[in-house]
Amino acid sequence: MTRPLRDLVRPDLRVLAGYHSPQVEVDVRLNTNESPLPPPEGFADDVAKAVTGLEWHRYPDRSAWALRAAIGELHGVGPEQVLAANGSNEVLQIICLTCGGAGRRVLTFEPTFAMHGQIARTTQCTVVEGERSEDFTLDPAEVDRLVLEADPAITFLCSPNNPTGLIEPRSLVEHVVAAAPGVVVVDEAYGQFASWSALDLVEPDAALLVTRTYSKTWAMAAARLGYVVGPAELIAELHKVVLPYHLDSLKQAAGMAALRYRAEMDERIALLVEERGRIAAAFSEMDVDHWPSDANFLLFRPRPIDGDAVWQALVDRSVLVRNTASWPRLAGCLRVTVGTPAENGRFLAALTEILGGASA
Ligand code: PMP
Repeated sequence: MTRPLRDLVRPDLRVLAGYHSPQVEVDVRLNTNESPLPPPEGFADDVAKAVTGLEWHRYPDRSAWALRAAIGELHGVGPEQVLAANGSNEVLQIICLTCGGAGRRVLTFEPTFAMHGQIARTTQCTVVEGERSEDFTLDPAEVDRLVLEADPAITFLCSPNNPTGLIEPRSLVEHVVAAAPGVVVVDEAYGQFASWSALDLVEPDAALLVTRTYSKTWAMAAARLGYVVGPAELIAELHKVVLPYHLDSLKQAAGMAALRYRAEMDERIALLVEERGRIAAAFSEMDVDHWPSDANFLLFRPRPIDGDAVWQALVDRSVLVRNTASWPRLAGCLRVTVGTPAENGRFLAALTEILGGASA
């Protein structure tokens, strides 16, 4: 007798739904918080040169030392304080494998990036979901209560928080680091768009890890590269978990090449922050609720029409945003990535038309 193959899978995984981010063919894609522009001119040539010079028959530098040194230089720390991996999601997985696991708890504050809970579960951690306040900020007293209740091995913060866009105040991050018994991870996938960074709080003795990605600011979502900065002692432990030669030579070269375009990237960040302000100002004139954002996206809730209907009406006008309407605590909400000025113009015109039609 044969059994369904699914029965061979760990029972706790069988019940998981998995993580999905639907793609639809449209002109204006504002749904995954990527950079709206490709890398600066020159980058592709730099990478092409690196490709030609690669020793393809040899394994890559297993320690990715030069890349880690370049990232470290960017943040004023040594390479021993940096671990790089295939996207910051893989970095988060490495942290969960190292500090989490069966019998250990991971604390999240909802609503937040769904992959924190998902990665924690697939690495057999028990997830304790704390709640943010009504306005999506985090109450220090609630943090204390949850930390006491959960005794977490890992506490996840996300700043700016995906999907709300809100940044955690420095005092709050300091409070969580002081209160949490385990490691505190601040996911700064959108850190470059924010007014301050928890990188400032990384200390040799503090159980704080700050993760970043090349997928947004560095316009390299296709390459899958992310990293974590933390105390050298913890970073060394994380390195025990990574697979041998996990970062290929091409990616290491691309990661270093990108960092040579810092000035261009700073200009783009400034442009996107300005555009974010334009979208927020336009929202204020419309029949929508919206939240202050320190990221390259904004969360908003159309008041007169249901979020699902607005999402579909935007798709009908060839504009794709992220539909968060069915996510816990986000009934009726949508999340829009800040695009180029032209893309944002298309989005705002479409939204105005849709909402104008509702009140007509
Ligand atoms: N953290 C947050 C908060 C994110 O929004 C994302 C991307 N959606 C990631 C991590 C993962 O990024 P990467 O492409 O580096 O895996």
